[in-house]
Amino acid sequence: MNIHEYQAKEMFREFGVRVQEGIHCKSVSDALAAYDSLGSEIVAVKSQIHAGGRGKGILYNPESGEEVMKGGVKIAFSREDVEEFSRNICGNLLVTKQTGKEGKIVSNMYIESGCDIDHEFYLAILVDRDRKSVLVMASTEGGMDIEEVAENNPEAIHKIWADPSLGLRDDDCASLSNSLGLSGSSSTQMIEMLNSLYAMFIEKDCSMIEINPLVRTKDGSMVALDAKVGLDENANFRHPWRDEVRDLSEEEDVEIRANDLGLSYVKLDGNIGCLVNGAGLAMASMDVIKLYGGEPANFLDIGGGATRESITAAFQIILEDENVEGILVNIFGGIIRCDMVAMSVIEASKELGLEVPLVVRFSGTNHEEGKAILDSGEISIHTVSSLSEGARKIVDLIGGDS
Ligand code: ADP
Ligand code: MG
Repeated sequence: MNIHEYQAKEMFREFGVRVQEGIHCKSVSDALAAYDSLGSEIVAVKSQIHAGGRGKGILYNPESGEEVMKGGVKIAFSREDVEEFSRNICGNLLVTKQTGKEGKIVSNMYIESGCDIDHEFYLAILVDRDRKSVLVMASTEGGMDIEEVAENNPEAIHKIWADPSLGLRDDDCASLSNSLGLSGSSSTQMIEMLNSLYAMFIEKDCSMIEINPLVRTKDGSMVALDAKVGLDENANFRHPWRDEVRDLSEEEDVEIRANDLGLSYVKLDGNIGCLVNGAGLAMASMDVIKLYGGEPANFLDIGGGATRESITAAFQIILEDENVEGILVNIFGGIIRCDMVAMSVIEASKELGLEVPLVVRFSGTNHEEGKAILDSGEISIHTVSSLSEGARKIVDLIGGDS
């Protein structure tokens, strides 16, 4: 789950990470009031969407499609500028490299005191799964696409790792700061900032923190000028405050609906819909589909506590994807009974007027009863007894290239 820059910076303040003063706004009049109360002549007017590349993005009128303004992050040198920029941002569609061409409507802004930038750095904290460690990555090439830097100038990227049971080591922080060419109070501040960010990463159960740019100001201070924070959803139960910072308008409608029903759904690019119980089995099903030359249209784990309602909803969600040409259901009955799933599958197929081929593989609790129900129903459903048979069958039925 992602949060907005203004929310991430609020969190930074809590942990003592230096940021400019700023105010969250939702309208032009909010923006003007924020300008007056910040008391800084130069401010940044920043569109708040869950995507980067705002500075180089373009704003369009969502109705007419006409271009309104270049740049979703603007530096304003006067109150008039603030009025013009916030008017051009608010309610308009911002298209950036990361939003895709459909863009995002901007309904939040952040007005922030202008910063006197001397140099822009890049800093990120991530989970390194291979090393089972927290990775801290920094570069002297801030303000640009890190992927580009990694490709064209990999030696500009410096990394240190923190074993989560030991934490961040002082000498690693010092050597990272050194590799960035920092010295004196900038270096002291950098090391402090690394420790604050690491504490936040652990305490708030983040999946990533990215600061691009992290700047050294003309007076040598280190300031986080941008903030992208991802929160690990597996830890939601530990953080009830997350409900407050979640911006549902930024999330895919179907993923929210799925989530509310206890389903884990991720849309993919293929044409074979998958309905599976258990994340591991869902992964395995996708692998075997690919093995036989098919392409999964989604990852969908209906979980252990699936009901008729959630199974119908799962079918509905799969069928809303117009790329879906066939469905593979793969259920391992444990607590969930295959006969219940069979009844639900038949009901859902009738209710939704299922027109694409459906292959079902049951195993575990009441699989024979389940198969019998499907075989005796008036709807044509292909039952199979193994995953590989099921994957091959669905690929054949949609005319795949296995
Ligand atoms: P994005 O990464 O989405 O384009 P940023 O927050 O990184 O958005 O802003 C883009 C650029 O705007 C930054 O690289 C920085 O040069 C400039 N910028 C952002 N905030 C400020 C600020 N408060 N004062 C001065 N310049 C800023
Ligand atoms: Mg940025």
